[in-house]
Amino acid sequence: MSPSEESLLDPHQARSFGDALSLWFGRSARDLPWRGQRDGYRALVSEAMLQQTQVDRVKEPFERFMARFPDVVSLANGSEEEVLALWQGLGYYRRARLLHAAAQAIRDQHGGVVPQDAATLLSLPGVGRYTAGAIASIVFGERAPIVDGNVARVFARFTARPGKPGDRDFDARCWELASSVASHVSKPGIVNEAIMELGATVCRKHDPDCDHCPVRQGCLGHASGEPDRFPEVRTRAPRTTIHHHVLVCLRRSDSEDGVEVLLVQRPEKGLWARMWQPPSIESGKEMAPDMLTSGFGLSHQPVGIHRFEHRTTHRDIMFHVNRPEAPGETAFSEDDLLRGLGSPAHRWQQVERLDELGLSNPHRRIIDVAISKQSDER
Ligand code: SF4
Repeated sequence: MSPSEESLLDPHQARSFGDALSLWFGRSARDLPWRGQRDGYRALVSEAMLQQTQVDRVKEPFERFMARFPDVVSLANGSEEEVLALWQGLGYYRRARLLHAAAQAIRDQHGGVVPQDAATLLSLPGVGRYTAGAIASIVFGERAPIVDGNVARVFARFTARPGKPGDRDFDARCWELASSVASHVSKPGIVNEAIMELGATVCRKHDPDCDHCPVRQGCLGHASGEPDRFPEVRTRAPRTTIHHHVLVCLRRSDSEDGVEVLLVQRPEKGLWARMWQPPSIESGKEMAPDMLTSGFGLSHQPVGIHRFEHRTTHRDIMFHVNRPEAPGETAFSEDDLLRGLGSPAHRWQQVERLDELGLSNPHRRIIDVAISKQSDER
C-alpha cells in the first residue's frame, strides 16, 4: 500500500486497506452485546447509547433497555418517563427522547420496521449521517460511509493530513475517504466497523499502538514518527462554573416503613430537560444562606450537608446540598417552597422507587447523601 493520500481513493488501494482491516477485525473484534445478534433496532439503540458515552458504560444499560423494550414497537409504546428511567447512568438524556421519537416515527410511518437505507434512516429524529451510515452499512450491507471521532483519527493519521475535527475541510475530507473505502471494499459494513474498532482500541487518541496495527505499512502518521500529532487538537472554549443549591426534603411514607423525597420536574428545555430532581436554585455564583432561606420560601435557614463538583461537556456545576432544617425541628412549608420556586410539577416519591423516574446521576447522588446523613444521625 503506497502511503500517499491519493492512494486511499484509488480502488485497488482502498480494497487493500479494507482487506487488512477486515482480517484484523475477524481476529480482534471485542465481544459486545449488540454485536451478537444484528438487527436494525438493536443497532439504533446501541448507536444512540454510544454517542458521547464509552463502550464499557453502555453494556449494562443496553441489556437492561433491550429486556424492557425488546422491539421497536414496544419502545414506541413505552412512556417517556420509563425510557428516561432506563437511560440512567448514560447522561445526555436528549438522546433518549430522540430515540423514543425515532421509534414512534418507525411505528407510525414505516410499519414498525426499521428502514434499511441510509437516506430513509436520515429522516428519523436524532439520526444523523454517522448513525444512518452505521446502521445501513453494518446491519444491511449498504455502501454507506461513516465518520465518527475514531474514524476521523485513523484517517488523519493514515494520511498525515493537517487539520482539526470540526473544521469544514477536515471533516469533508474524512467523509470523502470513508466514501472511497465503502465504495470499493467487498464488505463495507465490516470495514466500517473495523475502522471504528481500530480507532477505539489500537489507533487510540493517546499512545497509538502502531506495532499491532494492521495498516501501519501504509500509514504516513506512523512513518512521520509522531502519529499522535494528527489530528490537530481543537482549542476549547473556556469552561464556566454555575452553582446549583439543592434542598432535599425527606419524610416518612404514609403506607410503609420507608422514606419519601420531594421531587420537582425541570423545565421543558435546557440541561436535564423534564427530568426529576429535588428542588433547586441555580445561580452564576454561590448564594449566601439567607438568600437561600428566602429563595426556598423557608422560615429557617437551610442546613448545608454536602457539596461536590460535577463536570458536563461545557461547564462545571458546583452542587450545594441542603436540607430544610436540622432533625427534630419544625417541618418546612411545602406550599411556600413550591410557590418560591415558581410552582413546578412536583411529587413525593419513595426513595426505593426512584428507578421508575428519570433522574440524573448527580441528583441520585444528592438524594443518597441526604439519606445516608439522616441515617447516621439516628
Ligand atoms: S500505524 Fe499507528 S498511527 Fe497509523 S493507523 Fe495504525 S495505529 Fe494509527
